[in-house]
Amino acid sequence: MSSLRSSRLLLGALATAFSLGSLEEARAQRSPSDYLGYPVGADRRLADWTEITGYLAELASGSERVRIDTLGRTTLGRPFVLLTISDPTNLASLDDIRETQLQLADPRRIRDPGHLEELIETGRSIVLITCSVHSTEVGSTLVPLRIAHRLATSNQPDVQEILANTVVLLVPSLNPDGVDKVVSWYRSSLGTEWEGASPPFLYHHYIGHDNNRDWYAFTQLETQLTVDQVHNAWHPQIVHDIHQQGRNGSRFFVPPWIDPIEPNVDPMVVASGNALGSEIAWSLLREGKKGVVLNATYDAWTPARAYQHYHAGVRILTETASAKLATPVEVDPEELEPGRGFDPRERSWNFPVPWEGGSWHLADIVDYMEAGAFALLKHAARNRETWLRNFVGIGERAVAGWPSWPAAWIVPPAAGEGANGPWREIGVARLIGVLRAGDVEVGRALEPFEASGRRFPAGSYIVEMGQPYAAFAQTLLEAQRYPDRRAYEGGPLLKPYDVTAHTLPLLFGVEAVAVEEPIAVETEVVLEAPAYRVPLSEAAGLVGSGERVALYQPWVPSMDEGWTRWIFDQYGVPYGTVHNADINGDALDGFTSVLLASIPPEVLRDGRGQDSLPPELTGGLTAEGVAALRRFVEAGGTLVALDRSVEWVIDELGLPVRNLLSGLEDETYAAPGSLVRIESDSRHPMAARMPPAVAGWLQGGLALEAAQDARVRVVARYASDGLLLSGWLQGEEHLAGHPAIVDIPLGEGRVVLFGIRPQYRGQSLATLPLLFDALNTERQD
Ligand SMILES: [Zn+2]
Repeated sequence: MSSLRSSRLLLGALATAFSLGSLEEARAQRSPSDYLGYPVGADRRLADWTEITGYLAELASGSERVRIDTLGRTTLGRPFVLLTISDPTNLASLDDIRETQLQLADPRRIRDPGHLEELIETGRSIVLITCSVHSTEVGSTLVPLRIAHRLATSNQPDVQEILANTVVLLVPSLNPDGVDKVVSWYRSSLGTEWEGASPPFLYHHYIGHDNNRDWYAFTQLETQLTVDQVHNAWHPQIVHDIHQQGRNGSRFFVPPWIDPIEPNVDPMVVASGNALGSEIAWSLLREGKKGVVLNATYDAWTPARAYQHYHAGVRILTETASAKLATPVEVDPEELEPGRGFDPRERSWNFPVPWEGGSWHLADIVDYMEAGAFALLKHAARNRETWLRNFVGIGERAVAGWPSWPAAWIVPPAAGEGANGPWREIGVARLIGVLRAGDVEVGRALEPFEASGRRFPAGSYIVEMGQPYAAFAQTLLEAQRYPDRRAYEGGPLLKPYDVTAHTLPLLFGVEAVAVEEPIAVETEVVLEAPAYRVPLSEAAGLVGSGERVALYQPWVPSMDEGWTRWIFDQYGVPYGTVHNADINGDALDGFTSVLLASIPPEVLRDGRGQDSLPPELTGGLTAEGVAALRRFVEAGGTLVALDRSVEWVIDELGLPVRNLLSGLEDETYAAPGSLVRIESDSRHPMAARMPPAVAGWLQGGLALEAAQDARVRVVARYASDGLLLSGWLQGEEHLAGHPAIVDIPLGEGRVVLFGIRPQYRGQSLATLPLLFDALNTERQD
């Protein structure tokens, strides 16, 4: 090459740089690696939330393709951020594009075929990409930097096509608090024996991993911000949720889902998700990325992970194999383990190119994730019109009503009288609040009316089913009938991936009635949840009672502990958090009760083991701890244990009860998360505020039987018949009629054992009074 030519090239490069206008703009286009000072995905390097948002803000400030908005604050006060990315013309007319999208979402707003064609012409594929809901899945916190930078700066034809045809909504983290929690834990672990170990605390302040199980109950601020300001503002056709999975299976999962698919998910949501997922898998394989599996492991039963499935959008979950946070791992081929629906050591139709094992780095994780996101975006752009027509079709079917749906649901107002009245009021408010937050149209009857031969009072809430998001109402209002699935006829059970029930009227302890004929009554539009007269703290009844609860927090993060803490904060329960050292060291002074949430016995006993964490975070409750708990109760305290903690308490304190389910094989008894009928004994003070029967959350669970002549009082039993109310249950007969909650005197105090989970994921309002009253010494006799 002549020196003349190379200096011309150099001049050309300088001219380009100067044509950007200023150094400031050039800086604003720099890559995330330049900003961070190391390559995104480098081993042992993670970016915290200030760095992530700092880079994204800089990128947006210098780009006509990217805008950044702060939607609100997280649980711990960090900014919750949304990027909107498209070509400059689209961004300039964003409000119009959004209005078009909302008209396409509701066929009642489409006037005629000509109007529809106009909307299809002007509409864009709306793609929401959500990252980093699970903060230990650290590649998912970094990949949005790469996605945003490539979309902001690339002039490749495929990126141009994406920008022209789609609006990309990018949530860089659904849990910013967790980003910082995990990054600071990881940095402190570098160079230690426990480098890359998972943290000894929940990575969402309250609910840890369950922050991706909140997409219909909307209990947490981050869920609320995302649903209110992103999902409902846009109703995207496609939602790409970027996760990581374990390290010994496939390298990358993408739908199709495995069965069962929840029956209210529109068939075209399923079919279009199958097509898009298959396209992504094919694309990665063409790029030479091995170990891609589809149609494995994950089913589509619960709306808890899939808000969009009931709002005309597909959910493309991708799961990339993990390292040890940012520390690389070496996977021996022998360590590869079969999963649900495939074996990573063998080729199969849904796993065409196995990965043979070897080293696996954060860079691999980020590469797979980025490749997945761009394969998805290209498909969304190239098939824009198909996606919009598919979207309209889903809305049309919902508005026409499905044959399996009733004409309407009626929720009678809560009277508010009686001991349980405040709880019914709270339940109705929560139910209407969830439906409205899910964009379901709700009316309120202005006068009494008759439907299905029954008279309903004025003030009853009415959900007419001919509306765009009727599927969301239907799945939450009806009882679930999870199919009995077996490997082959008469063969072993195929256990559900997750829980099987989500019936809100049962969980909230309120009535909802399906009626088959249209309702003739004047209604007003309900915009918000109704108020309830008794504040939550008063309903719980523990404020100012002199009670103080010690809530045990193990060093193996417990979501059930976190949910309990969330409920305590919501309901104003006076409590303090105690750890192993507090109980083992007999530091329970000032508490009136100790609560063990549902925690596995091995965690209570051994914690995380001896060598994977700093010494002060290892081990569990010792013999000294057990002795301290015994002294605490015998001196008049109350020990409350929930579900999985119960057997440890029975064994350690030698209580005169046993669990009848202990040792039963899955084939005989299995309760993966279902609602069952619980009958409380009105003679017990804990049941004073309870209706005679409610739905209890059974997940594993216990059936408790007292030893002969023992002083054991039954608070509630499993119903003798009609036990299963929603979900799936194997081996009903092992529960029927047996005690579900018992109260056992010990010295001056008592132990209360719950075989159900009275505070399940913050949702089981129907049984919350039982928990609060277990913690209230005035409810003892
Ligand atoms: Zn995850």
